[in-house]
Amino acid sequence: MILILRPDLQGPSTTLDEIDSIARCHEGVEVKTYEFQGTRHRFTEVHLVGQTSTVPTDPFELLPGVLRVIRVSTRYRMIGRHASDHEAAGFHYNGVDFDQHHVHVMAGLCAVDTREHVDAMFAALQANGLETSRMGAYKPRTSPYDFQGLGATCLPWVFESAGRHGVKVVSMEVTDARHIEEIQGALAQSGNATGVMLQVGTRNAQNFELLKAVGQQREFPVLFKRGMGITLEESLNATEYIASEGNPNIVFCLRGVKSHLGDPHRNLVDFGHVPVVLRQTRLTVCIDPSHSVGRGAVAPDGIPDIFHVTGQGIVAGATGVLVDFHPHPARALCDGPQALLPEELPRLIAYVRTMRGAYEAAVESFRGAPVG
Ligand code: PEP
Ligand code: MN
Repeated sequence: MILILRPDLQGPSTTLDEIDSIARCHEGVEVKTYEFQGTRHRFTEVHLVGQTSTVPTDPFELLPGVLRVIRVSTRYRMIGRHASDHEAAGFHYNGVDFDQHHVHVMAGLCAVDTREHVDAMFAALQANGLETSRMGAYKPRTSPYDFQGLGATCLPWVFESAGRHGVKVVSMEVTDARHIEEIQGALAQSGNATGVMLQVGTRNAQNFELLKAVGQQREFPVLFKRGMGITLEESLNATEYIASEGNPNIVFCLRGVKSHLGDPHRNLVDFGHVPVVLRQTRLTVCIDPSHSVGRGAVAPDGIPDIFHVTGQGIVAGATGVLVDFHPHPARALCDGPQALLPEELPRLIAYVRTMRGAYEAAVESFRGAPVG
């Protein structure tokens, strides 16, 4: 059972005490409190866990501080969308809103290699008015002989350059809990020149200790990549781990699934799942067209496949695009064939804007239609 307190409630402790004393009358019921900072409101949820099926809802509903009481039928207690009118949470981080209303292109290098390339990339973002990026320092590679990323050594100059170019959020994969501390340390030394969204990669989608570690800190939001070889339900359960440890600021990223049925694309593009994730959860949904398609092929209409699938994700309601760029793809140490050129950034931004416009027009045309 979930009790949603009135948003922005001043001094919720009275309500929390009242809830506690009612809950204590029922054996086997544990009370857990969670705070969320949505983009518009701050709200508190109290979760009653355990033997709640015989606990009546009325005594809680009568409390003035309680907005709504929901019996949870879904397994996604934290990330789930429990009632059709429940506000999708979203969050605000380092001056940027991540929610259903703000679309972000998070463009950058798959793997950080040189300062020149990082500077050139951030300069391109700044020239195009973008404040969000991606930069890989810790790379999980299939072969131990492939470039593993520069690790902590590159963090000071990556963060300094991001700050100098007005980039506010850098999505950066972590493959081990100690990377979080390294990022924390380097960011602090840079005078918090920028912000970081901790990325959990597809290969770590069920690394439960890593999920717990990114969930136990609340300094950084988390961008979770759908597991490439597991069901959507398993991936959603993985994000539930992060939220249940205390961090609800999660972006769920679709990036394709491993199957030769997707050939010649690198992965089978799964952006048809955007509305499914939006319906089942209150998470912000992002797509990664680069790791889905994996190549720079262009369709006969002149539009690259990477653009086409980006459009498919945005038209379906995704509000984030995590995308690989490189000033010299041939020299990239990781995933060069799927990297776009900085010169293509204006076209990508315009294309995303067009597709978002189409999505918003479609939503408008369905206004008032029955919701199934
Ligand atoms: C990445 O985004 O750099 C990456 C490795 O992606 P994925 O985990 O989706 O393969
Ligand atoms: Mn990559």
